[in-house]
Amino acid sequence: MNKEIFAIFGNPVSHSKSPLMHNLAFKGLGHDACYTRYLLTDGSQLKEKFLSLGLKGMNITVPHKEEAFKACDELDAFAQKIGVVNTIVEREGKLYGYNTDALGFLKAIAEFKNIKTVLFLGAGGTAQATSTLLRDEGYEVTLLNRSKERLEKYKANGFETFTFETFKPKTYDLVINMTSAGLEDENLPAPIEILDCVIPKAKACVDVIYGKETPFLKLAKSYHKPTKDGSDMLLYQGIIAFEHFTEYKYSFDEIKGFMQRAFVL
Ligand code: NDP
Repeated sequence: MNKEIFAIFGNPVSHSKSPLMHNLAFKGLGHDACYTRYLLTDGSQLKEKFLSLGLKGMNITVPHKEEAFKACDELDAFAQKIGVVNTIVEREGKLYGYNTDALGFLKAIAEFKNIKTVLFLGAGGTAQATSTLLRDEGYEVTLLNRSKERLEKYKANGFETFTFETFKPKTYDLVINMTSAGLEDENLPAPIEILDCVIPKAKACVDVIYGKETPFLKLAKSYHKPTKDGSDMLLYQGIIAFEHFTEYKYSFDEIKGFMQRAFVL
């Protein structure tokens, strides 16, 4: 059998930890495969490139997750519902699509107990998948976003939504930064007056940004709140993707044992 080849497609893609994570797991588990990265500028060429490179599977990152959805022949029920795909596996010439970001996030917040109400700061692509899954799992999800436009589709889907101007503070068990504020700048995801109102009443605060302590997490820590960054979300979405890539040959914990080494190297 030929060596299986996997890749992450995105733009930019040079910063991605996925090749390191997956290659550590392939090597550690003795699975004959390798994982590389591919800078894809034109998302409409996703399927053609995937097939011409002879790949067995791929992950898809910004900004091609909607194009990846369109490229699939078969979708699992959750990917079908949200219209966003970050994992594709080829089986007998057909492309099967999944979303593992939201499942990874759900697993990452499982350590916080007695959480019922959740405030999302941000309403972009990552919030779209995760808010839907959290609501399906029984959480009450409210979205607060800087611009009004992005909230329209959430409102149409029955979510409670606010802009900074219309926000009426309540108590939220979990406050999550789902924006890119703090990623390459020192911005907070919402005005300090709002954060000073919701963070003290929260049981915990989570940031999806990883690899740095954002101003949001610093603020949450100043209120002595339990916090976590986006590293576990990244790790868990990778493990779930790996399970699809290898057709569930290995257990979650076996994969985790090798993949998590990417975070200490
Ligand atoms: P999008 O571009 O789809 O959405 C960005 C969101 O951030 C919008 O709601 C936007 O609001 C808001 N925003 C941006 N800058 C600011 C600011 N200065 N103040 C307030 N709001 C702001 O991004 P994604 O959903 O794809 O990604 C969001 C974050 O999630 C990123 O930081 C990304 O790195 C992280 N991420 C982490 C993953 C992980 O595995 N840990 C996986 C995927 C993403 P507006 O509508 O007003 O523009």
